[in-house]
Amino acid sequence: MQFPESEEMKMSPESYPFVVRPLPYEYDALTPVLEEETLHFHHDRHYKTYVDNLNSVLADYPELQKMSLEQLLTKLDKLPVQIRTAVRNNAGGVYNHELYFDSMKENCGQEPSGALAEALERDFGTYQNWKELMRQAAVSQFGSGWAWLVADEEGKLIILQTPNQDVPDLQLYRPLFLVDVWEHAYYLQYQNRRADYVEGWFGLIHWRKADRRYEEALHRMDKGWSHQSHQAGVAAAT
Ligand code: MN
Repeated sequence: MQFPESEEMKMSPESYPFVVRPLPYEYDALTPVLEEETLHFHHDRHYKTYVDNLNSVLADYPELQKMSLEQLLTKLDKLPVQIRTAVRNNAGGVYNHELYFDSMKENCGQEPSGALAEALERDFGTYQNWKELMRQAAVSQFGSGWAWLVADEEGKLIILQTPNQDVPDLQLYRPLFLVDVWEHAYYLQYQNRRADYVEGWFGLIHWRKADRRYEEALHRMDKGWSHQSHQAGVAAAT
């Protein structure tokens, strides 16, 4: 994915060695929903550990070192079996955290906008209805994982859950944003009250950026992503 504006935290388009992306805002920007200490632990330690682990997994595989994150994640079944799980967990951890941190901004009353706002109403009826379904997905994810808003190959919006650091099938879905429901994302402040953290997170969603991702996904569809992903889906199923 490519975002044109300089404020964006890029989604590691590069390959090995992957680098820790700085937050696209100050550590205190998301208070009081996410305090500085929470973001320091989450970004500087948890996310960084996935970056470091992914690099160390790939260190002995020069033939994989040119692959982007997205290529690694869509070709897991082609990777050497002995590193498949480690790449799945750590490339997923990098991808998910970069999108998570990049999908938030300080709460200043932002609301859905543009084509994404229209699609939310089309596919969920109302914002409130979407929010309730998204809330349920985040709160009900058993154990560690993520709740996602993605667009399918026809531009329809879908809420997904993934466990651990799993990523949705990137040949079928374009992620717009996601919420981290691992305890490390909220435990310092909220302990076991995941629902309170999720409620606060809704106010941090960077809707304008999400709309840009959605419009880019629609643009990709116009250029044939749908056709390619259908083929990929058939190939994967046979
Ligand atoms: Mn996390």
